[in-house]
Amino acid sequence: MKRQEIKEILQSEAIGSTIKVSGWVRTKRESKNVNFINLNDGTVLSNLQVVAEVENFDEKILKKINTGAALTVVGELVESGGQQRVELVAKEIEVVGEADPDKYPLQPKRHSLEFLREIAHLRFRTNTFSAIARVRHAMIFAVHKFFTEKGFFNIHTPIITASDCEGAGEMFQVTTLDMNNPPRTEDGKIDYSQDFFGKITSLTVSGQLEGELAALALSKIYTFGPTFRAENSNTSRHLAEFWMIEPEMAFYDLNDNMDLAEEFLKYLINYALDNCQEDLLFLSQRQQQEEKNKPQQERSMELIEKLKFVVENDFVRLTYTEAIDILQKSKPAQKGQFQYPVEGFGTDLQSEHERFLVEKHFKRPVILIDYPANIKAFYMKVNPDGKTVAAMDVLFPQIGEIIGGSQREERLEILVEKMKAMGIPLEEMDWYLDTRRYGSVPHSGFGLGFERLITFVTGMGNIRDVIPFARTPKNCEF
Ligand code: ATP
Ligand code: MN
Repeated sequence: MKRQEIKEILQSEAIGSTIKVSGWVRTKRESKNVNFINLNDGTVLSNLQVVAEVENFDEKILKKINTGAALTVVGELVESGGQQRVELVAKEIEVVGEADPDKYPLQPKRHSLEFLREIAHLRFRTNTFSAIARVRHAMIFAVHKFFTEKGFFNIHTPIITASDCEGAGEMFQVTTLDMNNPPRTEDGKIDYSQDFFGKITSLTVSGQLEGELAALALSKIYTFGPTFRAENSNTSRHLAEFWMIEPEMAFYDLNDNMDLAEEFLKYLINYALDNCQEDLLFLSQRQQQEEKNKPQQERSMELIEKLKFVVENDFVRLTYTEAIDILQKSKPAQKGQFQYPVEGFGTDLQSEHERFLVEKHFKRPVILIDYPANIKAFYMKVNPDGKTVAAMDVLFPQIGEIIGGSQREERLEILVEKMKAMGIPLEEMDWYLDTRRYGSVPHSGFGLGFERLITFVTGMGNIRDVIPFARTPKNCEF
């Protein structure tokens, strides 16, 4: 007999039929004559209730049915008086894999997220983490669907790179040299000409520069790959290894770029609302449970309400300079409540400032544009004022920056000047400059941090809980 998955069984109309199901035991409840087993196979949040009449089974088998054990059950599908429409009356039970109830770390009770991080190899088996995994998958699919529908091409950009000027922070070096005894040049420095690639190489912090090369031929492309940042920031929004989606479009200016970013985020959130209802409902209840411990004014909107709110409202668009003005006049600034003071034009905005604008001042997502040139990367287009660049950051409640992007500097001379001023080695970037030498066109793009999106959509408080195995400073388990 072919195994059926629980997702399909719970929707089944085939009352009275004999079916076969496999999964893991979440809980078992024993009464004198019957055992009620909640079986989950990860295909959906809900469990299938299996009813085993004690007299029909060997006592030894029933004893092995513990939380965490894997079972295959053949039985009759009947209507249920319980939470689900149907349940399974067991005829045969095979214990496929046992789990010692005294040792299995996941007891059928609430575990803290911190504890579950330590057993991330098992946390997929909880409702919370299986729900997140399913939402994550839905979002991956929606990303490809959105861009495919719009005629974008997916490009794989390299993970190992020799350019260290992407300007997004510290990089992880990649080497095969013996670190205990590296070859040296005459002046005592490490001789990287003897390294695997014959030069210093690192893990990429962004696929943008290579993405631009493709966009200036294919018109609209996107990358969706792993990115690595060795920034020592122990926050709830930073990972050392995360996934980023980077569209890049020829003939798009900053306004086109903003329109696309807003449409994209709304599409993804809508997709989750339409396709992940059961999981979102569960995550919403989980979040509200957690919010109960917070003071009233710090509690966030109910998850689904919050997602709908973002989809239904226009994002606010304003310039960095306007934002600085609002921040300087704000109550927390007047009262000295910001940890980092807002000094005026040139101040790099911190998460607390971004969240003030979004959560307190405008109460909706904000796109900030036209940042001071000196706090942004070299490739951003210089505005006519000469001191700002055509950058855009999309700011979300709870998350702060979810997207960072810009219109790119397409004018060769101005780009070269800026690179010199910012100390970017021109020789190494000659390939990049070729796009400006030959058929250069205005173009734009942005980067969406995939885990920041998932943090928002699932209502989780910490980015470490929305990637299966988080890599953060001093933490690289599993
Ligand atoms: P932040 O100021 O929050 O550190 P950033 O300015 O370094 O972000 P970008 O270099 O513009 O970010 O990267 C594009 C997007 O990638 C960000 O908007 C964010 O969504 C995501 N991102 C950046 N750094 C991280 C990280 N360490 N972990 C997870 N996502 C990140
Ligand atoms: Mn950063």
